[in-house]
Amino acid sequence: MSRVVYLDGEWVAKEEAKISVFDHGLLYGDGAFEGIRAYNGRVFRLREHIDRLYASAQTILLDIPLSKEEMMEATLETLRRNNLSDAYIRLVVTRGPGDLGLDPRKCLRPTVFIITESIELYPPEYYAKGLEIITVATRRNLPTALDPSIKSLNYLNNILAKIEVIQAGVLEGLMLNAQGYVAEATGDNIFLVHRGELITPPISAGILPGITRAAVMELAQEEGISVREELFTQHFVYNAEECFLTGTAAEVIPVVKVDGRTIGSGRPGPITRRLMRAFRELTQREGVPIRG
Ligand code: PMP
Repeated sequence: MSRVVYLDGEWVAKEEAKISVFDHGLLYGDGAFEGIRAYNGRVFRLREHIDRLYASAQTILLDIPLSKEEMMEATLETLRRNNLSDAYIRLVVTRGPGDLGLDPRKCLRPTVFIITESIELYPPEYYAKGLEIITVATRRNLPTALDPSIKSLNYLNNILAKIEVIQAGVLEGLMLNAQGYVAEATGDNIFLVHRGELITPPISAGILPGITRAAVMELAQEEGISVREELFTQHFVYNAEECFLTGTAAEVIPVVKVDGRTIGSGRPGPITRRLMRAFRELTQREGVPIRG
């Protein structure tokens, strides 16, 4: 069965889902997006993702032509029409077609599209043995220039970092902020375990407020593991007992080596494994049902 894509109020065949070359999403990266997962017939943290999309849009003064409820329904309907119950969902809102200048007022109507696909970010063996990552030279965007809390279509900062990751022959990379503190990975948030406590950089470090990050922080509290949001340096990472990354696509993935330094025992640690299990269970029981 051919996939359909939601595009500006209609569902069109994947091959027919096309946008204008004058769209400012394409010309300038002017827009916002979300990546969401459906597990077992339910959409995980749909409300939180929609809230973050509308928060991104609010900051860039982009008026999404659908209410949050309509956007949620369009997301669910796209999954239904593609007969998917486990999927990755991409929501994109661009400034829409305009002229060749920057002026967003020339863009009369935002473009909205929703794509659903099945994806797997990391090969399964990495969940068992853990990832080896590096720190990249590219610093995370300054919040005073382009706040990383905006999930904007302008991902060049992360793509430059990803190119370094690829050139180093690894799968992910740590990005520092302009002050040199650890911010996040190119597409994931970072957590450490230190003296049995969970530590993650605060949003003010200049990171995307990950939905998976928030879920993991809740789960840790439920499991009686204390969680702190605190700035830390690479030295603190190298001396952590455990390290893992979180993200919608990646879920919870252990990290066992950073810049050639072995983290803890060099194998996914007990707290990481507990949270991986707790997160998987949460995704199976929670979420907005796709069908009624
Ligand atoms: N940081 C960045 C830069 C991201 O792009 C993402 C999303 N892939 C994340 C963190 C993780 O956020 P979430 O858990 O909401 O997917």
